[in-house]
Amino acid sequence: MPSVSLPDGSRRHFDASVSVLDVARDIGPGLAKAALAGKVDGRLVDVRHEITEDTDLAIVTDRDPEGVEIIRHSTAHLLAQAVKELFPSAQVTIGPVIENGFYYDFAFERAFTPDDLEKIEKRMRELAKADLPVERSVMERDEAVEHFRDMGEEYKAEIIASIPEGQDISLYRQGEFVDLCRGPHIPSTGRIKAFKLTKVAGAYWRGDSDNEMLQRIYGTAWPNKEQLNAYLEQLREAERRDHRRIGTELDLFSIQEDAGGGLVFWHPKGARIRRVIENFWFELHERAGYDFVVTPHIANLELWKTSGHADFYSDSMYEPMEDDNQSFQLKPMNCPFHVLVYKDRLHSYRDLPLRWGEMGTVYRREMSGALHGLMRVRGFTQDDAHIFCREDQIESEIIGVLELTLELLEAFGFKDFDIHLSTKPEDAVGSDAIWEHATDSLRSAIEKKGLDYTLDEGGGAFYGPKIDIKIRDAIGRQWQCSTVQLDFNLPERFDMEYVSESNERRRPIMIHRALFGSLERFFGVLIEHYAGLFPLWLAPVQLAILTITERQDPYAREVLAALRQKGLRVDADLRNEKIGFKIREHTLKRVPYLLVLGDREMETNTVAVRTRSGEDLGSMGLDALLSRLDAEIASRGN
Ligand SMILES: [Zn+2]
Ligand SMILES: [Zn+2]
Repeated sequence: MPSVSLPDGSRRHFDASVSVLDVARDIGPGLAKAALAGKVDGRLVDVRHEITEDTDLAIVTDRDPEGVEIIRHSTAHLLAQAVKELFPSAQVTIGPVIENGFYYDFAFERAFTPDDLEKIEKRMRELAKADLPVERSVMERDEAVEHFRDMGEEYKAEIIASIPEGQDISLYRQGEFVDLCRGPHIPSTGRIKAFKLTKVAGAYWRGDSDNEMLQRIYGTAWPNKEQLNAYLEQLREAERRDHRRIGTELDLFSIQEDAGGGLVFWHPKGARIRRVIENFWFELHERAGYDFVVTPHIANLELWKTSGHADFYSDSMYEPMEDDNQSFQLKPMNCPFHVLVYKDRLHSYRDLPLRWGEMGTVYRREMSGALHGLMRVRGFTQDDAHIFCREDQIESEIIGVLELTLELLEAFGFKDFDIHLSTKPEDAVGSDAIWEHATDSLRSAIEKKGLDYTLDEGGGAFYGPKIDIKIRDAIGRQWQCSTVQLDFNLPERFDMEYVSESNERRRPIMIHRALFGSLERFFGVLIEHYAGLFPLWLAPVQLAILTITERQDPYAREVLAALRQKGLRVDADLRNEKIGFKIREHTLKRVPYLLVLGDREMETNTVAVRTRSGEDLGSMGLDALLSRLDAEIASRGN
């Protein structure tokens, strides 16, 4: 007779086997109504799952992340059901949950149109309203293959045939529609209350470009309409901030298809911002005791064999170039180069730590389908640095890196960090002792800085534990930028050494760290974070001088020269256009300050100052303007 332990520590006894739903009913009718699934000894099951033995049980509702995932996955089934009804010749393939939603891939003779999506969505609403029960059944593998083949669902049959023989297959039926699925699912389609199909895209069967192209329909689903609407509003806001659109509008960068996808061209205005970012980065690092190196873009393939990249990283590397009877590899990483600089001479324990930074441009293979603006590219610049230190210096070095990271990111207006510490995976190099010491040092460094973190047990790379830092942007999206990675492997592979106090040869510890991650991607995040309204210190054009008539031209040139002399980025618009037109145009270009010059300003040696938000600051002399600008630049907009 099962006894069920609930999350609050209470325990309920039953005389006979009970379903998850029975237990929920026993607790209360509200919970029975809200129950979407159960978690039995940590495993998700349907509400109709029978409990026969003593067990731990949690009732899953739409307040649990797992509950929301079940709703999303069930909405994918609903989508497939509607598509099969409306387009019987479409074949179903897979329909997983993704962040904030789901997709389903169909094999169909043509692309689905926006009109199709509307029809499908309408049919989905009807099917949800019909509140069809969702029923689970189990079939033997070979029988299931036959079953789907008979239905003409070749893709499903192929998926099932790749499941190991003898394994039972679970199927879910709602109305006439049956799909292969591990489950669990909602008890009936009426539990789907708030969803929207968002877009269609092509996708290759099994993600392989040698296979046929499928039609992928994306959607989003939420527990209620309010959450759905809030998400759709966020999507519209993200669309409005899209870095590709703003990048074109403000003439910041381009991707030139003639040159190849995933290769970034920084235009003069974008390159100005990049230079400000880089200068700030170098300044901060210099202050934090870093030195800088500059290394080549290619190196003999042998180097990448020694480092191990030629084995475990080869999928991301371009084919080597042959020359002079050697193979040269375009670099996917900067690390081995910094190791070579280290090995160029013998180091003593007194030299350590060595902190070497480089804006290192690397190239990595990416499928063309995965490329996305500045966010996913083939060539990018890492704000890379490697620290070579002794074991007893790990903690203080990590504290230094964390301080530097927060200072750097906070300057760009990021105040909300999500820190993850990943520890030793099952397969790892290095002794237990060094892993334990290193992991303790990372943890202690985070704690000494008073930071919260999430532990990702076993989630580290095979060569060392790491810290990942995510930032939250102005509309609440998270971006993974900074990584601090300890490495016990490369020092071993390259036989790196230092001479200890007792005159013995020892291995240094290597720390890899990139704070922006990729400059290109970080720039993309910044554009979206600021929606193109860069704070004064970053703005590619900080001030625009606008003349009312050509009488002010000589005065405008004087003001222009004076401001440029102060290191400000200024444009002068002397065109014969109406002042209202000029103001509108430079406001659209998001120039922070507009200086309007008329006869009165010329006579009184002043400028009339407007901001891009439309605020009129009145007339002032250049000294007053400059002290205002200085203060604003120093604050970095924070
Ligand atoms: Zn499913
Ligand atoms: Zn590295």
